[in-house]
Amino acid sequence: MTVSQPAVTPPPLKLADRMERLGTETAFDVLARVNKLKAEGRDIISFGLGEPDFETPDYIKRACKQALDQNQTHYGPSNGLEDLREAIAEYISRTRRVEVGPENIVVSPGAKPVLFSAMMALVNPGDRVIYPSPGYPIYESVADWIGAETAPARLLERNDWRFDVDELASLVTPRTRAIVLNSPHNPTGGMLPASDMEAIAEIAMKHDLWVITDEVYSQIVFDAPFASILSVPGMQHRTVVVDGFSKTYAMTGWRIGYAVCRADLAVQMARIETNLHSCTAIPTQRAALAALRGPQDESRAMAAAFKRRAALITDLLNDIRGVTCVRPAGAFYVLPNVTEACRNLGLPDANALCDRLLLEAGVAVLPRTCFGRRLEDEEYIRLSFATSDENIVAGVGRIKAFLEA
Ligand code: PMP
Repeated sequence: MTVSQPAVTPPPLKLADRMERLGTETAFDVLARVNKLKAEGRDIISFGLGEPDFETPDYIKRACKQALDQNQTHYGPSNGLEDLREAIAEYISRTRRVEVGPENIVVSPGAKPVLFSAMMALVNPGDRVIYPSPGYPIYESVADWIGAETAPARLLERNDWRFDVDELASLVTPRTRAIVLNSPHNPTGGMLPASDMEAIAEIAMKHDLWVITDEVYSQIVFDAPFASILSVPGMQHRTVVVDGFSKTYAMTGWRIGYAVCRADLAVQMARIETNLHSCTAIPTQRAALAALRGPQDESRAMAAAFKRRAALITDLLNDIRGVTCVRPAGAFYVLPNVTEACRNLGLPDANALCDRLLLEAGVAVLPRTCFGRRLEDEEYIRLSFATSDENIVAGVGRIKAFLEA
């Protein structure tokens, strides 16, 4: 029997003050809007989502199924399974040309949580954190949330989306504690060469700074080789590498990533894991181990597809009146300049353009404002080319038709 209760109007929600400082990844809001329009029967081509359109390779899924069948369904160590940490350490030692061991690895449910815990572990309220702008919005959001002073550093379109290193250096103050790097980069597709890493390392060493380097796209590079600041001599004890499986192995929904750092910091980051997650799901860790130890050809084929699409989408965008697009060096994003296109249409900014493209042209793209506080006057939109060639041709065709009508 159900007992009917009198209707109660809840009082206004009173949150802790810190919630006012928490940002978000507004790309997820756009995704919700696109899904709603699709559910209403609208035909939308989406360039919004930052995840591979490929499926996780079968050998990885099999390892997870096997772990489940073997009842590997219990808690594990907070820093991750020993054999997975060993495999990650081998992978990092090989790809970054440094020597790290399992004691330097902390496994976590995604790269995102270790970005968070690295800042939690290292940055005090009032400390300054420098991070790329435009950039993955979580850097600014988390830095703000923990009460740090946020200092966005401009990536310059005219410099193939690299920093002006002198400008970056000028942002360092006595309270600066960390620089966040992300190469290959979301949302520009830019990449920092080894010479930039050396210059940034010099700044970090001179001012005794930490570098938190988000390298989730390290395996999706097109022509130039990937460079990590971890490879620069003297940087190992002041660098936290953040990496994962989401992009390289098309495993976004599995939720697994890791940090690589000095062993004493890894212990502290594992303490945060204990408080937050206890551990990363064990069958997921088994899948990740299979991913690293298994054949790499599917992962390489995905990277090759992204390379082909990068050329395709850049050429198509550069063929639109009022649009110019820097060719990406890695990841699966482009950030074309649409300043002139906005002006031609009498639109105030890229946000207005994104709205019009979604509602009138049936194309979802993200405005630059999804990627942290804005420092420039130019207008940009981000397109993810983690979608089929047909969608790229049709979707960019719709944008061209809309902008040139
Ligand atoms: N860093 C960057 C730059 C990203 O683009 C993303 C995903 N969009 C992440 C981190 C998050 O990765 P994960 O799924 O491993 O948490």
